[in-house]
Amino acid sequence: MSLEEIQTRIRAAEEKAGREVGSVNLIAVSKVQPDERVRAVLEQGHRQFGENKVQEAAGKWPAFREQFDGITLHLIGPLQTNKARQAMELAEVIHSLDRPKLAKTIARLAQDMGKCPDLFIQVNTGEEEQKAGVMPRDADAFVAECRGLDLPVAGLMCIPPVDEEPSLHFALLAKIAERNGLSGLSMGMSGDFESAIAQGATHVRVGSAIFGERDYT
Ligand SMILES: *Cc1c(COP(=O)(O)O)cnc(C)c1O
Repeated sequence: MSLEEIQTRIRAAEEKAGREVGSVNLIAVSKVQPDERVRAVLEQGHRQFGENKVQEAAGKWPAFREQFDGITLHLIGPLQTNKARQAMELAEVIHSLDRPKLAKTIARLAQDMGKCPDLFIQVNTGEEEQKAGVMPRDADAFVAECRGLDLPVAGLMCIPPVDEEPSLHFALLAKIAERNGLSGLSMGMSGDFESAIAQGATHVRVGSAIFGERDYT
C-alpha cells in the first residue's frame, strides 16, 4: 500500500463516521524501516511520524529534522524513566505515559527543561499482564494524578490484544476518555484504523500498511 492510499481510506472512514475530514492525525510508524522508505514518505510531504524506541529515534530523526521542516515525532513505545529526558528532547508527543513514577519524573523534567511534550496515557484495555498501560479501573485516578502534576494530558492510548475484536477496546477507551473530559484518542493500527476512526480515534498509528513489512532480521 502507499501513503496516499491510507490517506484516502482515512478520509473515507472520517466521512462514513460523520466526522470532519482531516480531523484524524495519521502517525506514520517508521520503527525498524530503512531510511530510504522514511525519506520517501517525507518527500511526499508527510510530517507526523512514530517511533517505538528512544535510541532508534535519536539515531535517525535529528538528521531528518535538518532536512525537513515541521516534523512532529510521536514516541509510542514503552518508556523507561532513565530515558525520559532524552524522549522529551526528541519527541513532541509521548503516547506511553503508564505509571505514577514516570509521571512524576516527566513533571520534574518539565520544570527543569521549561517544556513538555503532549502526553497520552496508555490504558491496558485488555488487562494483559505483559502489556504496558494502567488498568481501566485505575485510569480515572491516574488521569487526576497527572493533572495534579500539571502535565499536559492530551488523551488516552491503547493497543488491543491481538486475538480480540479491537472495536470493543476502542469503545472502552473512548468511554474512559469521555468521562475524564479528554478529547485525544490514540488508537488504531494498520489492520484496524478504520474501526478506530468509527469509534472516535484522533490519532491512528499506521506502520506496515504505509512502509511495508518490517524486516527485523
Ligand atoms: C508498531 C506499532 C504500531 C504500528 O503497527 P502496524 O501494524 O505496522 O501498523 C502502532 N502502534 C504501536 C504502539 C506500535 O508499536
